[in-house]
Amino acid sequence: MNINKALFLDRDGVINIDKKYLYKIEDFEFVDGIFELCKFFQERNYLIFVVTNQAGIARGYYSEDDFKKLTKWMIKTFKNRGINIQKVFHCPHHPLLSGECKCRKPKPEMIIKAKNLYNINLSKSVLIGDKKSDIKAGESAGIIKNYLIKSTYQKKFDFEDLKKLIIYLKGKE
Ligand SMILES: [Mg+2]
Ligand SMILES: [Zn+2]
Repeated sequence: MNINKALFLDRDGVINIDKKYLYKIEDFEFVDGIFELCKFFQERNYLIFVVTNQAGIARGYYSEDDFKKLTKWMIKTFKNRGINIQKVFHCPHHPLLSGECKCRKPKPEMIIKAKNLYNINLSKSVLIGDKKSDIKAGESAGIIKNYLIKSTYQKKFDFEDLKKLIIYLKGKE
């Protein structure tokens, strides 16, 4: 039975300020409100996952190892704030460089993997992204609540920033 609820977060542009192909700890800047947002969901028994496209690996801008180091540090930083990131899923591919893959968003594979590993009920889960491809991945996986945060990638968005989303979520309770 799929009984757990989950919060799926895109990384670049949602957790950290998108600086394009970021891989260095010193360049990683947390987005305002991300800790409060995670706490909100954690207190409501959501498991927290990160699902992130990392084509910089296929492009050779940084290595799998660079990504792992940054991820380890990120998870630790969350943990120091009392937030448990269950797992980080990433797609290292790029269709033109490493061929088509199953995992790159807008494909839902990373979300489906989390669902199967952690017994997630996707219809009760939430996804937050800053690109249309994040939202599409969530929708194809069967997530109903997919929230698009403002970014430079598209004109339309659901929320200007995470703080506005938190206000909305709190108002709904
Ligand atoms: Mg993003
Ligand atoms: Zn992939």
